[in-house]
Amino acid sequence: MNSLDEVISCVSGYDPDALPVAKANEVIRSFVKPVSGVERLAVRAALGRVLAKDVISPINVPSHDNSAMDGYAVRCDDLGASEPVTLVEIGTAYAGKEFAGVVKPGECARVMTGAVMPRNTDTVVIQEAVKTEGRRVTVPAGQERGQNRRLAGEDLAKGKPALRAGRLLRPADLGLLASLGIAKVSVRRKLKVAFFSTGDELVPVGKKLKAGEVYDSNRYTLWGMLERLGCEVVDLGVVRDDPGKLEAAFRKAAAGADAVVTSGGVSVGEADFTKQMMAKLGEVVFWKIAMRPGRPMAFGRVRGRGKSAYLFGLPGNPVAVMVTFYHFVRGALLHMMGRSDTELPLLRVKSGSAMRKKPGRTEYQRGILELKNGEWTVRLTGAQGSGILRSMSEANCFVVLGHEQGSVNAGDDVDVMLMDGLV
Ligand code: AMP
Ligand code: MG
Repeated sequence: MNSLDEVISCVSGYDPDALPVAKANEVIRSFVKPVSGVERLAVRAALGRVLAKDVISPINVPSHDNSAMDGYAVRCDDLGASEPVTLVEIGTAYAGKEFAGVVKPGECARVMTGAVMPRNTDTVVIQEAVKTEGRRVTVPAGQERGQNRRLAGEDLAKGKPALRAGRLLRPADLGLLASLGIAKVSVRRKLKVAFFSTGDELVPVGKKLKAGEVYDSNRYTLWGMLERLGCEVVDLGVVRDDPGKLEAAFRKAAAGADAVVTSGGVSVGEADFTKQMMAKLGEVVFWKIAMRPGRPMAFGRVRGRGKSAYLFGLPGNPVAVMVTFYHFVRGALLHMMGRSDTELPLLRVKSGSAMRKKPGRTEYQRGILELKNGEWTVRLTGAQGSGILRSMSEANCFVVLGHEQGSVNAGDDVDVMLMDGLV
């Protein structure tokens, strides 16, 4: 395993005091490694888990050529190019039942959707298109060979990968596995993530606030995001600014979890023991990231009882903690879970608001994407201060103003990232 210093030495233009978002992510991604544990689960229990091995299709889906419509199975060679042709119907093929008949020249068979194509037929004419008189079926000209027929294996071909390792199993995938007759799959084990808040001013909900105290809201937002990511979450509570308590919390987290996420105590000039303890217990770098909100952040690995956990020391401000989680921790944890896809798409949308922005940092403004006069438009939630959690709560997207970008006029297109897709 490479040391953090080695990883950092490979990143060009690394400056811990003005680190672009992309560089911070480059360091994080090179340093964190996926967990290796695998478990076999019933398909339904695997919802939301990460597939550990490629699933190779054991069968063709569909297993036979079959009809996509209710109609008549015909031999395309029998049909006229410019004139209607009358055929004789020899029987009906139903879905799920074998049709014993053989369709000879001049004949056709009635077929139901999903029925196996009767022998010698290659084309289905929908029932609305034909004229029938007893067993005589008149097919108009202009039919195409192979129309309304599903080919064996066209959905999933036997022997080919149906699902690739590294994918998040979604409802469509459960159905796909079931369509292959597969009852169990191998998934990566769940990622165990410990988290705690630091700060002497923090009070757990349920207690009365004294002057200068605030409720510990970060433990709720962090808990929610970790749960949504599908982690096994270990809540270590609020840890006072006390070296002994901090050391015990970090050691416990390092010994029992794959990663530890903390909030608070990483600001420049912070007069507490959090940073000292992080540095003492592992290899940790302290960054000032060229972003807003969320400038300070610690990253690395802490050790305890012979084990180690990756450390994400997030800023304490309630918006900053969420933004840094979304844009650094989320992707890192997904990578650790074995996910192959961790990027989130940006959409270009018209901005209803003007936005002041200085080049040289990335900003994640909180936006509301809404349909206005038939066009999707984004506007900012109110005040954008990094302590104003309402701006996150009201938002349904981030307006991502890139590193080089300057101010935005109302009516300009901007990049937005939907929050729903995030965690
Ligand atoms: P810090 O990063 O420790 O300097 O904290 C920055 C600001 O965030 C301070 O105003 C803290 O009171 C506030 N803060 C820190 N931790 C939390 C928390 N867990 N819940 C709510 N606010 C917090
Ligand atoms: Mg603090």
